[in-house]
This record gives sequence, C-alpha cells and structure tokens, in this order.
Amino acid sequence: MDDCYTNVCYLIHFDEPVNRSGVQHYLGYASDLRVRISQHRMGKGAGMTRNANARGIGWRVVRVWRDADLDAEQALKAMVPKNLCPYCNRRAVRQKARLDAGQNSQVQGRPSLDV
Ligand SMILES: [Zn+2]
Repeated sequence: MDDCYTNVCYLIHFDEPVNRSGVQHYLGYASDLRVRISQHRMGKGAGMTRNANARGIGWRVVRVWRDADLDAEQALKAMVPKNLCPYCNRRAVRQKARLDAGQNSQVQGRPSLDV
C-alpha cells in the first residue's frame, strides 16, 4: 500500500508573503496529505492558504516528512521555515554559487600577482 501521503508533515511555500509579518511558509501535519491539500485548494484549510487563494498568491508543497506525528510537527515548527524550504534554499544556493564563482575568478587571477 502506498502510504507516502499518510501521517506526514508538509511545508508550503507561498510565492509572496501572505500577511503583514511577511510570512511565506506554512507547516502542517496531515493524516492524509492528498485530502489536506485539496482542502487547502478549496479554501477549507488553514487561514494562510485561504488568504493566498483569495489574493491569487501561488503556493506549492515543497517538502514532506514521512512517518510524522504531532511531536514532529511541533519540532519542525520550532525551526525557521525558510531554512527547511528547498525552494528558498535553492535560490540561496544559486546566489552562493555566483558568489563562489566570483571568488574563484579572483583566486585564479592571484597567481599572476605573485609572478
Ligand atoms: Zn520557501
């Protein structure tokens, strides 16, 4: 039986901040993620997804933790959601890669100074 959508914690990333605090992530627990997501889509889920839907802000489930329980949800909620978000981190990694590339080009230029 395919149970990869049951008893999971999931992280939603919003394309834009959904409230005045600039919150851009929602972390939740679902006994059945497919049911829960359809509830979010229909505006029957959390207030944040309802707000996002009403304002036309796109959102996606970016990460799922399998075999989770409410303790796991509490532990994850104590962390910084952005640090858990692969979507945000992918952008951060790309920016870091650009910086590293810049540093590398400086490093490559340095030997000529030693000549
Ligand atoms: Zn994110």
